[in-house]
Amino acid sequence: MIEFKSVTKKYGDKVVFTDFDLEIKDGEITAILGENGSGKTTLLKMLAGITDYEGKISVGDRAAFVFQEDRLIKNLTVERNILLVAPTADATALLNEYGLSGYGKRYIKELSGGERRKVAIIRALAVSSPLLIMDEPFSSVDVATKQKFMGKILKERENKKNTVVIITHDIFEASDFADRIVVLSGGKIAFDKRDFDRVGIREEIYSLLSKRR
Ligand code: ADP
Repeated sequence: MIEFKSVTKKYGDKVVFTDFDLEIKDGEITAILGENGSGKTTLLKMLAGITDYEGKISVGDRAAFVFQEDRLIKNLTVERNILLVAPTADATALLNEYGLSGYGKRYIKELSGGERRKVAIIRALAVSSPLLIMDEPFSSVDVATKQKFMGKILKERENKKNTVVIITHDIFEASDFADRIVVLSGGKIAFDKRDFDRVGIREEIYSLLSKRR
């Protein structure tokens, strides 16, 4: 389980979270939505332990991350980037599966933005971690590959009961994919639902987000 307990986060004078609480259950796919500046990326950075905060955050399991920026090593090949974090992965098979056949020996710096993103997601999935945390992972990925990634993540969850947290701007992505949707606004939870109707919830969130404009 992931737990934020009384978490306060500031960047200098800028307060992003005050006494923030959130629990994320094992085996669930949680989508986190919210307007720009609502604190989504900060939440993920605190989970990854790459920014400081006050309060308590527990992250039960070893986690795999997909950050908004790809965090690949540019002067290594695609294959080396994957094998560095997942040494036993069959990099060639994974690349073939997600439309990157023949890319193994290419350097990251020779790839387009969307291709880099795919490699970053492939690398995170290759780790086969009990906890997968992703920040807008599919924003530059083509629709067919995105469907494949989502199918793979759902299957992994089915088989291994792993936990997934996905930050997204896409209401469709959240409603199709997640078991639970949390909407952040100004560092607070403005909406939190499980067992929703996949169509009805889109209207509900859309109206909530547009009211705040
Ligand atoms: P989101 O991912 O929802 O767009 P962020 O978590 O990136 O939001 O940012 C939350 C708030 O914190 C915003 O108001 C943003 O301007 C501010 N912020 C983010 N990073 C920094 C930083 N390094 N220094 C100062 N303020 C920051």
